[in-house]
Amino acid sequence: MQSISLLPNSSNVDSNTGSKSEPLRAQFWSRFALTELNHSEWEALCDGCGSCCLIKYIDEDENGNVDEELVEYTDVTCQLMDCATGYCSHYATRQEYVPDCIQLTMDNLPNMMWLPSHCAYKRLYKGQSLPSWHLLLTQDAVVTQHEMRAANVGVAGRCVSETSMSDEEMETRVINWINP
Ligand code: SF4
Ligand code: SF4
Repeated sequence: MQSISLLPNSSNVDSNTGSKSEPLRAQFWSRFALTELNHSEWEALCDGCGSCCLIKYIDEDENGNVDEELVEYTDVTCQLMDCATGYCSHYATRQEYVPDCIQLTMDNLPNMMWLPSHCAYKRLYKGQSLPSWHLLLTQDAVVTQHEMRAANVGVAGRCVSETSMSDEEMETRVINWINP
């Protein structure tokens, strides 16, 4: 079982870390390889769905390869998740509270194929396109939010905290609305 997180949303990331913003190049997601993206472009790929902050059951082989067919998500989140908004409540300082929260990088992405099938990082890594509702395509946050809801994507309002939850109870909370 792993509780892993990445980049909840690009606006949070920049405001919390103070990272310098670099310009987003036009259509960068289709014109450049993931390894060629600048910091801002990399972060702009995250749609903020929060799925990666859910507790999940993962089978890995000795090389760290994940059998995607066997990944099971629960609706139980890491203790720092704000379940109402779907965002990390202490993103900038999260590792003080959750040391095993992982930053998604190009180096570890190949071993993170447990990510949901709609996740832009996983999709681009696999040579697929961005999901049609992605903000980079719609350029309209309201439209994206509406379409994400219609596509059943996002944890806001439908997750519970791991705090005080037993392993036994967690095992009963496997969901089927996220597919790796
Ligand atoms: S610490 Fe924050 S970003 Fe990391 S898994 Fe928990 S909620 Fe997600
Ligand atoms: S699953 Fe992918 S798109 Fe969703 S929050 Fe995590 S990194 Fe971002």
